[in-house]
Amino acid sequence: MDALGTETAFEVLAKAKALEKQGKEIIHLEIGEPDFDTPKNIKEAAVKALYSGYTHYVPAAGIPELREAIAEYISKTRRIAVDPEEVVVTPGAKPIMCFSILACVNEGEEVMYPNPGFPIYESLINFVGAKPVPLPLLEKNDFRLDHEDFKKKLTKKTKMIILNSPENPTGGVLNREDLKLIADCIADRDDILVLSDEIYSRIIYEGEHESIASLPGMKEKTIILDGFSKTYAMTGWRLGYGVMRKDVAQKVTQLMINSNSCTCAFIQMAGVEALKGPQSDVEKMVAEFRRRREVIVSGLNQIKGITCKKPRGAFYVFPNITGTGMNCREFGDRLLKEAGVAVLPGTSFGKYGEGYLRLSFANSVENIKKALDRIANFVKNR
Ligand code: PMP
Repeated sequence: MDALGTETAFEVLAKAKALEKQGKEIIHLEIGEPDFDTPKNIKEAAVKALYSGYTHYVPAAGIPELREAIAEYISKTRRIAVDPEEVVVTPGAKPIMCFSILACVNEGEEVMYPNPGFPIYESLINFVGAKPVPLPLLEKNDFRLDHEDFKKKLTKKTKMIILNSPENPTGGVLNREDLKLIADCIADRDDILVLSDEIYSRIIYEGEHESIASLPGMKEKTIILDGFSKTYAMTGWRLGYGVMRKDVAQKVTQLMINSNSCTCAFIQMAGVEALKGPQSDVEKMVAEFRRRREVIVSGLNQIKGITCKKPRGAFYVFPNITGTGMNCREFGDRLLKEAGVAVLPGTSFGKYGEGYLRLSFANSVENIKKALDRIANFVKNR
């Protein structure tokens, strides 16, 4: 258990809540979830399913209707032929991360993962006794992969490569060249799997989402992780899935049987509606995120000592704060206590996050503007 890490976002949230209890007004920019309500048609589908008997155990890998809907959706969006048996439905997408690492990675093997990146990757790699090999995503490379570094770090012991695009926390997006480099480097390696975390695939501001699974020869080597939390503002419902080779799907299903038994039945029916019903709420949400992105990026760039690149996807900005002379932990702690704005230090996402903060713009323009004023005053008077 000592090897297992955590997500600092929950710690900062707890600190912010404690301050709120003392009467302080806090603006929450630390949370990684859409501030929109789940679309009405999805809620109605859940209620309907609840009243029509979807209240019992269902197959561990997911109910057939949902596995079919997911296979169809991934086939269309990734331009690959997916069979429903290659789909495993889980309570949220996070279990796919956990189960695929447990199922596929042995002690002593190497796993490449993005840094800064979602902290659970490194936590789970350590948990199974594998060696975490960070792939630095640096601002000077637009928070994309460093190709030379990748080639150097790929070894005979590499078992898994974790990718996340659009990326949490940087908002960076891997382009076709990055994906092609990886695919070419592992073309003759049948022992490697790519875990491609595509949870933000629909929240993208420039161009189209590209999955490594779409490249020739890569479908069989890729585990696509995706889900409903972000796209349909359903974080609390817990509904996600993985798309993977049948042999891997069977192992992941076995882990489902050993842990959750199955994913909540009526929520899965809501998932069918989410994928097959109207998508206008998703489009509206992304349009609103795009508007907020402009506000937060231009506001941060006007503050002396802070520079901020425009994220290409997800709903986070990752401003560089080195010009303020503070490290990210000090900045984050003091900003919360002295100015009432909750953000995450870049190092919550790994050591290459030093010098940065992660701010979520899943908050109203009004609150974002208020937070920007507070940050500007804090930096000026520190
Ligand atoms: N991957 C990334 C990169 C995330 O940011 C998150 C949620 N914060 C997840 C996966 C997990 O999503 P879910 O709520 O579906 O478990």
